[in-house]
Amino acid sequence: MLKGIPASPGIAFGKVFLKETINTENLIKESENPDKELKILKEALSESISELLKLKEKTLKSMGSQHSEIFEAHKMILEDTEYTGAIENKIKDKKYTAAYAVITATEEIRKIFAEIPDEYLRERAADVKDVGERVLKNILGIKTELSELEEKVIVVADELTPSDTADMDKEKILGFITAKGGRTSHTAIIARTLGIPAVVGAKEFYEKVRKNDSVVFNGETGEIFINPNEEILETFKKEKERISRINKILDNYSKKETVTKDGKKPKLYANIASSKDAGDAFAKGAEGVGLFRTEFIYMNRKVEPSEEEQFVIYRNVIEEMKGKPVIIRTLDIGGDKEVEYLNFEKEDNPFLGYRAIRICLDRKEMFKKQLKAILRAGVYGKAKIMFPMISSLEELREAKKITEECKKELEKEGKEFQNNTEIGIMIEIPSAAVISDMLAKECDFFSIGTNDLIQYTTAVDRMNPKISHLYNQYNPAVLRLLKTVTDNAHKNGIEVGMCGELAGDETMAYFLAGIGLDEFSMSASSVSKIRWLLSETDSEKASEDVQKILEMDSGHIKKFLENKLSEIKKILN
Ligand code: PEP
Ligand code: MG
Repeated sequence: MLKGIPASPGIAFGKVFLKETINTENLIKESENPDKELKILKEALSESISELLKLKEKTLKSMGSQHSEIFEAHKMILEDTEYTGAIENKIKDKKYTAAYAVITATEEIRKIFAEIPDEYLRERAADVKDVGERVLKNILGIKTELSELEEKVIVVADELTPSDTADMDKEKILGFITAKGGRTSHTAIIARTLGIPAVVGAKEFYEKVRKNDSVVFNGETGEIFINPNEEILETFKKEKERISRINKILDNYSKKETVTKDGKKPKLYANIASSKDAGDAFAKGAEGVGLFRTEFIYMNRKVEPSEEEQFVIYRNVIEEMKGKPVIIRTLDIGGDKEVEYLNFEKEDNPFLGYRAIRICLDRKEMFKKQLKAILRAGVYGKAKIMFPMISSLEELREAKKITEECKKELEKEGKEFQNNTEIGIMIEIPSAAVISDMLAKECDFFSIGTNDLIQYTTAVDRMNPKISHLYNQYNPAVLRLLKTVTDNAHKNGIEVGMCGELAGDETMAYFLAGIGLDEFSMSASSVSKIRWLLSETDSEKASEDVQKILEMDSGHIKKFLENKLSEIKKILN
């Protein structure tokens, strides 16, 4: 048995799809047989063209011609003899291998484009790079596309980036296992949103697993078996049956109201990244959207989305939620989320760097497009604006000032907008938690981002599996901050929610009910489970226990909360 970090519950069994990374370090550069290399190149080119045709068709159906045209442009590059001729010449004249000829010719052409003053043509540099990588992968026989899976598989990768998962074929994915990442890494969050089992940080497994292996794993315990025998499979099958029996009971809670044993009514919201997620969230009983991660709108494309384009997306989400509140978080890129066309410089400490609100306050024009789109979409239901990564009063004031400017501009443009849109902030930086009494006086609501708050409070990189044991949600420093923030919000008459992953963590429900959290926002797939747990929790009693908990060390806190949870869960067995 091998182990990783449990990231999304459920049992999965199936064939492995190894998403390999391109490693060009040990690549053979020269060949004695140019004819053979030319043949390899020809085959890779035609394979790439047919992939692009398929992608174009698929994207046209799912996202429309605006997004599919890019694949036509890529195909045209492959049909341009200036590009293919340059590669062939390197094979013939310099005796390069097909792979090395593609790498060098692509880089030369990419550079020419990158230096063109015209912005449109300059952007084509990224297309040339993309196309070159596709051909290279086909030459090396590397499979990386999650959008073209032929059968149901367990996706295994070193790490999955947001661009990998953006256009993946979700129906074909039984589970995810990655070598890197922690409970709050992108793979883990996506898996929980989709309700797909996942284990992350499984480095040893990743080193051992081979193409065509079969794997069974448990996303709740992190246990993984490669090529399991009948006996192991039987045990997992029984566990799967047990889980589905419990899930059936919990499913009933998707349509109920959230009420604690002592009659409190916290709200259960969902975290989403698209209008499709919003539809799922509504169906699974979410009472609103507590976090719409808008950065995905900016990713996997060549130019920044316009105000109009964003307006349509936000309106769709708001309409899917049928009048329930939708908290739209303004752009939170940087850190692990890259956006190529914005041309950020590489940073040594991206999580402490040019990120989120820092970028928006610096690139005001881009920020304004998003704010105006949200303000306008609010007319179709109830939108709320939320700023990420606020660390000071000045940042909040500046962001609010820009929002006011947007309203004035919309008025002048004669466009309708939701004038009373509430403005809230994420509390995810310790400085914000410490001055939450002051911040609460200048905004309408808080939402605690525990994914980052734990990382910054304990100085533990949330992505680094080597120190994942130190990324500890039970650290009393973290829990004391949660209590401080909640108290400060309530003293100043504003509501406090939580959209970090702790809100959907079973062991935390008791503590969060005890400090009086007003709103829990989580993956839609966790809503029923947490609603059931809260319905079995006496928040008055929990609040008495909070003082005791805050005096314990992390080990004892964990034990205490796990015991509370298993007391409640006994009912289910
Ligand atoms: C958080 O930090 O808790 C959060 C919800 O934001 P993200 O995970 O997108 O950084
Ligand atoms: Mg965050």
